[in-house]
Amino acid sequence: MTMKINEIKFEWAGGLSPRKTTNKIVLHHAAALSASVEAIHRAHLANGWAGIGYHFYVRKDGSVYRGRPEEMIGAHSRGHNSNSIGICFEGNYETEEKMPETQKSAGENLLGYLEEKYGKIELCLHRELLATACPGKYFPVITAKAELPEVVENKPSDLPDYWAKKACDWAVTVGLISGDGSGNYNWRHTLTKQEMAILLYKFKEIQQ
Ligand SMILES: [Zn+2]
Repeated sequence: MTMKINEIKFEWAGGLSPRKTTNKIVLHHAAALSASVEAIHRAHLANGWAGIGYHFYVRKDGSVYRGRPEEMIGAHSRGHNSNSIGICFEGNYETEEKMPETQKSAGENLLGYLEEKYGKIELCLHRELLATACPGKYFPVITAKAELPEVVENKPSDLPDYWAKKACDWAVTVGLISGDGSGNYNWRHTLTKQEMAILLYKFKEIQQ
């Protein structure tokens, strides 16, 4: 069983400070039915923060993203940020009655990975620390999976920058660009003339 942690190249609007203690994991929901990790980052920037305040973001499809660097102080639970890791789950579990199995399972893998790394640390819901509904009354009980996942980090060099993402996704979807089979696309690699000729040739073929 492998778990991929997708890394995004975020632009931070301010300095981040390292966290000295880590003895708590706080679980949150996005309070939005659907939201990309980039959207959460933008929303937190709009709050005047340095950027995404959670350390991890788990989407409904089971994909896991790294938000704020793990060793830095987050912005997710006022008064508890200096000693905790914040994990946010896509969705609004105050109104959505069931978390998709894929998402729950990814959350359990992530907890397994973090507990292995930090030892048995306190796991809490945001509402247990502060007056908030977060992560919602239908948020399921999520506990670390016993079987440890093998973690693969999807490095930024293998992800397109946000301004090129739409075009890169399209190029992969239509088959113009293919990876090396291990999920690496080398998006910042320079094209040679012959590679460009092949791209143009493939493009002509898909037009017909
Ligand atoms: Zn919360």
